[in-house]
Amino acid sequence: MKCRACGGKAVVNMRQHKLALCKEHYLEWVPEQVARFIKKYRMFGPDEKILVAVSGGKDSLSLWDILIRLGYNADGLYLGLGINEGPDGGADSGYSAESRRMVEQFALGRGLKLHVVDIQQEYGHSIPALSLMTHRGQNRPCSVCGVTKRHEMNRMARELGYDVLATGHNLDDEAAVLFGNTLSWQKDFLLRQGPMLPGHDGLARKVKPLCRFYEKEMAAYALLRGIDYIYEECPYSVGSTSIYYKELLNQLESERPGAKLAFYLKYLEARVSGLFIQPEEQPQALHTCPVCGQPTQYEGKCSFCRMLEKANSET
Ligand code: SF4
Ligand code: ZN
Ligand code: ZN
Repeated sequence: MKCRACGGKAVVNMRQHKLALCKEHYLEWVPEQVARFIKKYRMFGPDEKILVAVSGGKDSLSLWDILIRLGYNADGLYLGLGINEGPDGGADSGYSAESRRMVEQFALGRGLKLHVVDIQQEYGHSIPALSLMTHRGQNRPCSVCGVTKRHEMNRMARELGYDVLATGHNLDDEAAVLFGNTLSWQKDFLLRQGPMLPGHDGLARKVKPLCRFYEKEMAAYALLRGIDYIYEECPYSVGSTSIYYKELLNQLESERPGAKLAFYLKYLEARVSGLFIQPEEQPQALHTCPVCGQPTQYEGKCSFCRMLEKANSET
């Protein structure tokens, strides 16, 4: 297989794009595509300050790397979740400790600015502990984790004066979420999924510059760029519905290359054409949480503050 750009030996073959590239041209092609998507979806301008949520995985670290290569002003945010189920169970081993090491090493090696929030230090409980306290002893941390991450990412973006919050969600992530929401026709969620969600009422603008890249394309980018990342997934992701949906979509993709991308892109087209929302409809007005001052859908305390209050009443 030959590189389409130079005729040299191709190392990446993207059947869905009918495109094969050598290392050098692949490492040029990915940022060019990202720059195109940033413009197409009006994610941010050249002078805006970007906060990249980095988990230590290939997607978020590659995103940070790409934004810096494109000349953007992008700093990192790492949230320490306290998920440390390492072989010896200690606080300095396991998923969170290892992912933090990866992120810190990445930032240090490139002289980039990294903000770290350790949830346990900040609020007194790790994510697994919060989950145990709020789910009557059951260890199902993903909902607690999701609420906490959304809350903290928005808080940090606002407090530190960033214009936009960027996450490393790739096409496989987005297609799996879309698939789940479509199976149950979750109108509210379908409305809120997109490459760029404008900020309003104290909510930071959110962007997903990698949303059109297959997971394997990002893995190839990280590998070819020599980015060290954590290979393991969070231990709580094992057996999750989103992984099941990803597997189903991968089966479809293997029979019909490009099906996953078409599913997502056709959804984006339907969304802007008004299938789910009339163009003049405004986003739902938000309230302000009286405890933390962050925006919330509910009148009264936000989900995060209610969860924390429940956890604290159990201790
Ligand atoms: Fe959090 Fe669940 Fe994701 Fe782990 S799998 S990082 S607990 S949301
Ligand atoms: Zn080439
Ligand atoms: Zn609150």
